[in-house]
Amino acid sequence: MDIPRIFNITESRHRIHNPFTPAKYDTLGRVLRMKPGTSILDLGSGSGEMLCTWARDFGINGTSIDMSRVFSEQAKARAEALGVSDQVNFIHDDATGYVSDEKVGVAACVGATWIGGGVAGAIDLLAKSLLPNGIILIGEPYWLKTPPSEEVAKGCGAGSISDFLMLPNLIGSFGELGYDVVEMVLADREGWDRYEAAKWLTMRHWLEENPDDDFASEVRTHLTSEPTRYAEYTREYLGWGVFALMAR
Ligand code: SAH
Repeated sequence: MDIPRIFNITESRHRIHNPFTPAKYDTLGRVLRMKPGTSILDLGSGSGEMLCTWARDFGINGTSIDMSRVFSEQAKARAEALGVSDQVNFIHDDATGYVSDEKVGVAACVGATWIGGGVAGAIDLLAKSLLPNGIILIGEPYWLKTPPSEEVAKGCGAGSISDFLMLPNLIGSFGELGYDVVEMVLADREGWDRYEAAKWLTMRHWLEENPDDDFASEVRTHLTSEPTRYAEYTREYLGWGVFALMAR
């Protein structure tokens, strides 16, 4: 079981698999005012940077599930390197339908809401693992400006314009689901550049090291087209943020 190989190649050197930077995760951890010992569940945890650094900096405990073998192994290595292996547990598995045995203070799905079939489904799923008055964290894209055509939306990697909302509508949608938005930290363009542009050098190095791999032509096509696609579409139209929610 694994995610599509292209992600395991292009993001193999990423610590954070979304447009957040280490500084943004630090800000998010601080503004949530978590007490040491807070338990966190993280679905689609990638290489575990959020939980590992929060374990080190804020004394939290965490469990996370990710379907990428490469990222899960990186998460374990990162926990070792930061000396927090006794506080965080990384499980390599499909997180679809995952509910924790013990309820947690913070339940997160940061940049992987498809695990619940979309934002509303992800919130419903996380709520099943949450203590009363716990916090749900949702990381999700939004439109900075409405794409003028479906073609532009597809250029941003969306299936269609309706896949994402404008920021006020996204925030409003949480209210319609019965949640207070109690905090938010938004990514900026520097974060987008770090996420997207970091893939290009990784692809280039991978191609040099794996010229005869079956996948080489696909990675080559990707590297040729990605920088322009990103600058033309994603960088212009797509925002991204993490929203902290508490049930009303
Ligand atoms: N939250 C992480 C990673 C976000 S990228 C971070 O901040 O870095 C999305 C992640 O979801 C990837 O790591 C991918 O491997 C994982 N993923 C995709 N489908 C999944 C599934 N069904 N179950 C668990 N993880 C999944």
